[in-house]
Amino acid sequence: MRKKIYWIEGDGIGPEIWRAARPVIDAALAKESDLRLDWQELLAGEKAVAETGSPLPEASLDALRGADIAMKGPLGTPVGTGIRSLNVALRQGLDLYACIRPVRHFEGLETPVKHPERVDMVIFRENTEDVYAGVEFAAGTPEARKLIAFLRDELGVTKVGEAAAVGIKPMTEAGSKRLVRRALRYALDNGRESLTLVHKGNIMKFTEGAFRQWGYDVAAQEFGDRTCTEKEPAPGRLVVKDRIADAMFQEALLRPEQYQVLATPNLNGDYISDALAAQVGGLGLAPGVNMSDSLAFFEATHGTAPTIAGQDKANPGSVILCGALLMEHLGLPRAAERIRAAVGKAIAAKSVTVDLAAQVSGARVVGCAEFGDIIGA
Ligand code: NAD
Repeated sequence: MRKKIYWIEGDGIGPEIWRAARPVIDAALAKESDLRLDWQELLAGEKAVAETGSPLPEASLDALRGADIAMKGPLGTPVGTGIRSLNVALRQGLDLYACIRPVRHFEGLETPVKHPERVDMVIFRENTEDVYAGVEFAAGTPEARKLIAFLRDELGVTKVGEAAAVGIKPMTEAGSKRLVRRALRYALDNGRESLTLVHKGNIMKFTEGAFRQWGYDVAAQEFGDRTCTEKEPAPGRLVVKDRIADAMFQEALLRPEQYQVLATPNLNGDYISDALAAQVGGLGLAPGVNMSDSLAFFEATHGTAPTIAGQDKANPGSVILCGALLMEHLGLPRAAERIRAAVGKAIAAKSVTVDLAAQVSGARVVGCAEFGDIIGA
């Protein structure tokens, strides 16, 4: 049996981490299943500019619109193309509204948390709204001045200074609820104990506060017989709770075992996913998937790491662990576990890439290609 999967190589360290990662993913699949992946490359980023003149060719977007699975390496932000960020363009163009990042510790990696073995969280970050919607106007531009005049003259808001830059933070009921709905389904299907809504509703009452309320609403209205709240606990049910984002950072460090699934608006989610990745080995070991209702788009969550690109120093772990998420998505948990176990074994053997070396006592530093070979062995 064969299954088509689109892939985008990515910029910077993209080519080298792919070369190291793909054989590991294919080999794990071959050992656990008859399924084989037909990798079909799509162009984006610098390679696409070189071949087509555009950093995000319409042909790539079209193929992805009809796809159910795809994977990508990191993409740089193209300068002078009018595109703010290729990743944001992909997320919005394909309506990849949920960014899902699991955070789990590998034994042998020193971390800033006392009990890393207790860290086992999955973050669901809303991916298309909030300040990332890109509605932002530079200070002094006619658009910013017009908005400021509208606020002052029509709405009586006088505290926005004439010379201010202005950004808008749109958050909708539908957008918030579909993210929380997906997180609730995941938590229930995977027997997790709690789901936490992470928000800044104490300050931004009508955006983040509404996210919190919509989250509780969707839990009560659509999953009421399987969920409960912290105030009214019910045995055997998923506890839905909420935390203010700044307090959540502290909680994640001090009491990680009390949190299993986090659902959060875009900006909080961006911060917290990188911070939690740092608890368990850093960005080089942080896989993720962006999902629409039809497409699961797996991605290395770090950037192009330009200062180490082309030097065989990058950690391919993030893409390799994306392979584990892909296997789970394809209903192949044994292949997923095989990949995770292989990464764990490589770390335990203490031959690791330079980014991990400071966290593994007595480490021998190896290059990207060798680390891939060790994981795949
Ligand atoms: P970055 O993630 O590229 O780098 C941050 C730090 O982590 C650097 O020290 C880098 O060397 C290190 N690092 C990252 N990945 C690593 C890996 N696999 N192995 C070892 N070390 C690794 O972030 P940045 O420098 O802010 O961004 C560089 C470019 O990447 C920018 O153009 C940015 O827009 C883009 N970016 C893309 C994505 C994405 O495609 N999802 C995400 C973030 C940033």
